[in-house]
Amino acid sequence: MDERLHKDLANWLEFYRELGIEEFYRRASGSAAPPPPTRDGGLAQRAPSEGAAPLVAASPPRPETKTVVSPAPVVPPLRVGASQTAVAAPSVRPPAPSLSLFETPPPKPSGPETLEQVRAELGDCHRCKLAGGRRTIVFGEGNPHAELVFVGEGPGADEDEQGRPFVGRAGQLLNRMIQMIEMKREEVYICNVVKCRPPGNRTPEKDEIETCSPFLFRQLEAIKPRLICCLGAPAVRTVLGIKEGITKIHGQFYDFASSKALATVHPAYVLRNAREEKILREDFEKIRQFLKGK
Ligand code: URA
Repeated sequence: MDERLHKDLANWLEFYRELGIEEFYRRASGSAAPPPPTRDGGLAQRAPSEGAAPLVAASPPRPETKTVVSPAPVVPPLRVGASQTAVAAPSVRPPAPSLSLFETPPPKPSGPETLEQVRAELGDCHRCKLAGGRRTIVFGEGNPHAELVFVGEGPGADEDEQGRPFVGRAGQLLNRMIQMIEMKREEVYICNVVKCRPPGNRTPEKDEIETCSPFLFRQLEAIKPRLICCLGAPAVRTVLGIKEGITKIHGQFYDFASSKALATVHPAYVLRNAREEKILREDFEKIRQFLKGK
C-alpha cells in the first residue's frame, strides 16, 4: 500500500472511530471504496486515477482540541404510516419558539380605553390642517378619574408654547373659578375640542372639529366624569350639539352618556366682557352644588 493511501485510510478510520464505529468489514471485491472523509467530515475528491497526484489533498489531521459537546437530546423514533418512508430526524433542531408559555404577550385590555391609549392613538397627529401651524399638541391634563372635566375651544399661543391647556390669561381666570368652588386644578381634567392651536386664535373650523372631536369623546369616555363643563360655544356645539346661544342655555344640566353636562361662557369672553363674570360665577356655583350632592 502506498504511503498516501495508507495515510488516507488512517484518517478515514480515525474519523469513523470518533463517530463510535469501530468495526469494519471487507467490501466485496470489485466495488469501489468510498473516498476517505476529510477531517471536517467531507469527502476528499478522488484522484482521477490511482497513483496520480490528488486534485485536492485530504486535509491534514486536526490539531488536538477538546470540545465539550452537550449530549444530544434523545429523539424518539418517528412513527410513520406503513406507506410512508421513515425520515431521519433532522440534525438541525427547529429554533426554539421565541416566547415561552410564560412569556406570551399580555392580552389586549378589553375594557374602556385609558387616556394614555387615546393619547398614543393621537400620535404626532397630522389629520387636519391645524397640524401645519402648531408647535405642540395640547392633549389635556389633570386627574384621569376626575369628577369634573372642562372642555374649552382650542389652545392659544401660551398653550401651544407649553403643551398644556388653559395656562394663559383665560386659564388663570379658570383657575380662580376652580378655587372658588374649593377644588384644586389637579383634581379636575381640562381639555379642548381641538388639540392644536388654530392660526391667530381663530375659532376652529367644522372640518377641524370633526377630525379632532372623536379624540375628545374618547377622553370623556375614558374619564367618565360626573359633570362636563363646556366653556364657550364650540364646546357646547361639539359636546351637546346645541346651537343656541350660550347666554340662553348656560347653567342648565344636560345628559351626556353617563355624565351630566353644563354650558357656561368661555373665560376668555369674560376677560373681554367683564360684566359677564356674573354668569361664570353663577354657573360655577351650580357646579359646586351638583358635585356636593353625591
Ligand atoms: N382657550 C381655550 O379654549 N383653551 C385653552 O386651552 C386655552 C384658551
